Amino acid sequence: MEIAEGVLLRRYAELDLSVGLVLGSERCLVVDVRGDARQGAELADAVRRVTPLPWTVVITHDHFDHAYGLPAFLPCDAWAHPACWDELVRLDRAPGRGLLVRDRVELDLGRRRVVLAHPGVAHTPGDVVVHVPDVGVLFAGDLVERVPGGTFSAESFGTDTVLAAWPSALERLATFDATTVVPGHGEPAGPDLVETCRRQLLTLLDLRADVRSGRLDENAALDRSPLPADVTRAALTKPTD
Ligand SMILES: [Zn+2]
Repeated sequence: MEIAEGVLLRRYAELDLSVGLVLGSERCLVVDVRGDARQGAELADAVRRVTPLPWTVVITHDHFDHAYGLPAFLPCDAWAHPACWDELVRLDRAPGRGLLVRDRVELDLGRRRVVLAHPGVAHTPGDVVVHVPDVGVLFAGDLVERVPGGTFSAESFGTDTVLAAWPSALERLATFDATTVVPGHGEPAGPDLVETCRRQLLTLLDLRADVRSGRLDENAALDRSPLPADVTRAALTKPTD
């Protein structure tokens, strides 16, 4: 579906994953490539039905559902954070490091400028977001998420998550002043989603600090959390920071 002029979103029932396609006049940008070679090929076919333009790929982070379809798009320019590339190469999911988004990279797609940015470690050490300024769209990867009736899921918090740094990464996202925020999972939303997620993460950090210091037991923390018990438990226990 087209969420803004020349910006398309493709959603999948499996994991409620969203991938993006940004069209310029000379090339297109594919935002995430799905979870394996077959899924990547399906997405590549779908892109080809939309446009014959050469593609560039950006991978928002190294989790399989966003990244492992990469071989279906190669050879092409492919962008990701160095930490993301290191992990994909280590797991033999990429033939080598592609182009690096260390902090901020601006791409010219032809009559359209797109910004790739690493807002800081958060959901993973190598998160990258994609801003399309002329239409106010921000592809946020898994830095924000939507599930029916809520925000995060238990899968939002993994052993590679740096919970303490995540809220400041969301502060940087807010500076893009996007009007449409596309989560890696779930429906697109307005900019409020970024602030909602940031506040919830701050609460989770407070609860975690209280549990770690012994001021609160885990059940009390689950009661006070703005998120469901399984999600809160994952946030309190899985990140290693
Ligand atoms: Zn993820």
